[in-house]
Order: sequence, then C-alpha cells, then structure tokens
Amino acid sequence: MSEIAVVGGGLAGSLLACVLAQRGEHVVLYERRPDPRGGVAERGRSINLALSERGLAALRVVGLDKQVLADALPMYGRMIHPVTGELDFQPYSADGERAINSISRGALNNILLDAAESGVDIRFEHRLSGLDPVTGELTFATPAGEVRARADVILGADGAGSAVRGQLVAHGVTTETLDFLDYGYKELTIPPRDGDFALDPRALHIWPRGRSMMIALPNPDKSFTCTLFWPTSGTSAFASLSSPAAIERFFAEHYPDVPRLAPGLVDDYQHNPVGLLGTVRCAPWQSGRVCLIGDAAHAIVPFYGQGANCAFEDVVVLGQCLDRTGGNWARALPMFESSRRADTEAIAQMALANFVEMRDKVASPLFRLGKRIEHT
Ligand code: FAD
Repeated sequence: MSEIAVVGGGLAGSLLACVLAQRGEHVVLYERRPDPRGGVAERGRSINLALSERGLAALRVVGLDKQVLADALPMYGRMIHPVTGELDFQPYSADGERAINSISRGALNNILLDAAESGVDIRFEHRLSGLDPVTGELTFATPAGEVRARADVILGADGAGSAVRGQLVAHGVTTETLDFLDYGYKELTIPPRDGDFALDPRALHIWPRGRSMMIALPNPDKSFTCTLFWPTSGTSAFASLSSPAAIERFFAEHYPDVPRLAPGLVDDYQHNPVGLLGTVRCAPWQSGRVCLIGDAAHAIVPFYGQGANCAFEDVVVLGQCLDRTGGNWARALPMFESSRRADTEAIAQMALANFVEMRDKVASPLFRLGKRIEHT
C-alpha cells in the first residue's frame, strides 16, 4: 500500500488526514508543533473563525459537523458600531435565519486531531526541513535530532509559510509570489460582563473606520475576541500608540464604546503581537508525487472569512478527484489543481475587495439601502 505523508496538522492537514484514512489510505501526519491539545494558546493568537456552509459541508464528509457546531456560536448578521449614534444590525439573510458560526481555531483543530488519531500515525514536533520531490525523501528537525522518512505521496498542508512550497521553489518546480498587505492585526479581548456577554453574541461586530477597522466574534465563555486591523507602517499605525495615554486617547476618539467593554485594552494592546496579512500565489501546486493544499497553496487575507472554509473545500475536492480517477494519485493531483485554481484565485480577489467594504462601506447609508454581501 502507498504511504501518504501529510505535512502540517493544522485545519487542512488534520481534516485531510481524516478523509484519507476514511478512504483506507496509510497516512502519516507530520506537525511542527507539540500536540496542541491541552496546551495553552499563545497570547494574542487565539483567532476565532467564521465557519460557513462551505466548511461545514467538508466536516460533514467525516461526520464532524455536529460536534464542531456544538462548540460554535451562530452569528446571524453584522452589528455595525459607528463612532456616534445607534448600533446598526444588518442580517446576513432576508429571513434572518441564516448564520455563520464563530469557532475557535484551536478548538476546531483539536476536534480534527482527535478524529484523525484513530486512523492516522501523527508525529508531533516534526518540522519539515528538506524534501526531494523526485524520490519522496523527507527530512524533519525534531527534538531528538534530524529524522528521515520517505513517502509515495506528499501533501503540503503546512500553511501560508509552507516549507513544502519552499522546497518545490528551491527545486525549480514551483514559482511563488507573496503579497503582504500594508496592514497587520492585533487581538484584543472583551471579557464577559456580570457573567454574560457584553455585546449581542448573535452578531459579528464591526467597527468600520476607514483607515483602521475592528471586528469582534463571540466565544462560548461569553467573551469576545476582537481583531484590530491597522497599517503596519507610517505615522498612523500600531507603533504610533507608544504609551498607555496614547492608546486610551485613540480608542476614546475612534472606538468610544470599546474602553468600557475592554478593561484590559491597554495591556492587550501593549503585549499582544501584530500579525501579518498577505496573499500567497504559486504555480504549479503539484508536481509528480507532491501537492500543496489549503493556505500552503493559496493563503488569502482574512476579510471574507473564507481561508479555512476554502482549505476545507480543497480537501473535499481532492477526495472527489480521487473518486473520479479510481484512487490514481498521478491523475488526481493535476485534476485537483485544475478544479480548484480558478475558485481560489476568485476568493483571493474577493477577500481583498471585502477589506475596503468592511472597513468603510458597511457604514455608509447607501450600502445599507442597497447591496448586502453574504458573509462577514
Ligand atoms: P494552518 O492552519 O496555518 O496550518 C498549518 C499547519 O502546518 C500548522 O499546524 C503549522 O504548525 C504546521 N507547519 C508549518 N510549517 C511546518 C513544517 N515545516 N513542518 C511541519 N508542520 C508545519 N478563515 C476562515 O475560514 N474564516 C475566518 O473567519 C478566518 N479568520 C481569520 C482571521 C485571521 C486574523 C487570520 C490570520 C486568518 C483567518 N482565517 C479565517 C484563515 C484561516 O486561519 C486559514 O485559512 C486556515 O488556518 C488555513 O488552514 P491550513 O491548515 O491551510 O494552514
């Protein structure tokens, strides 16, 4: 039987491992991190995701949709927070019944790893450092030193900074472009108030401010994780708020309802890291026995809330390609790329366009009277 190596045990890799194990493949999943289950999330990197029908459909394939939804909170629309004036709720559907779901990326990853464990050999603390796309030889850095392995098929699900992609580029197989946005993000927290949510938990909250923007998604512990998007350079940027007084002044002026909701605002702002945002484009995604999937192939900016949803959909489409080729990997991998490329290029464009919409247009009266977009 062929051995399949999945590199990266994040969202795409752990779902992919489940799907392939369900198909009876012999799968080894290599993950750079220690086992995240039971561990504490890195400060300011909790990330809660908006999981939509696209992602849920993929989870349904492995029977995990209901379990994941049990940990999620449905958001039925956007709640716009203007600088002054009333909050404005904009439902995602005409009947107000359709929702996207707020879920912690870590919780989702843990559910997928639990599910993968029964049929997959998972090796944590294995960071891919070398790959020969022709022979299928793999090299990993581990706490015990360098480890070598070999696989018949290698699937790179190792995220936006993919080492598998780096190896394909180094071997002259793939070319890549990485377009970083001049914006970064910082997480802030709105804790529960008097044991309850401090804001309406049935909405995705947006503070559109033109040059900066903040969103907040609810968590099951009744807190909200806020993500502040702002330029990474220039005078109006994260670093320009260099003292507690400057931070307080900035929020009082531009986000006046936030300071009373977020008592730890200054501490969060000063200590949480600034994350980078960008779009990865590369071609081809596959050659011979190696193929990229999820963010490794097509990372996008998060403004359409579709990166993980798309990564999950990749997994479904790869499974369909295996079905259509009778499990012939040599035919399935090129078919996967040609089936997915146009869709992922489209969502990359839409995600960039939605940034302008979210930070600016959702607050405009014209937008409220006219166009609505489905998500975030
Ligand atoms: P990742 O989740 O990045 O997983 C990659 C895995 O590979 C990691 O576990 C990593 O440790 C491992 N790895 C890396 N290098 C190596 C190596 N050398 N060897 C072995 N393992 C390695 N998406 C949505 O759908 N909805 C949202 O609302 C949403 N919001 C977002 C908000 C923010 C602020 C950000 C930054 C992203 C958001 N996304 C959202 C995008 C989403 O997080 C990603 O698209 C998704 O995590 C991609 O999954 P992945 O498995 O391809 O990559």
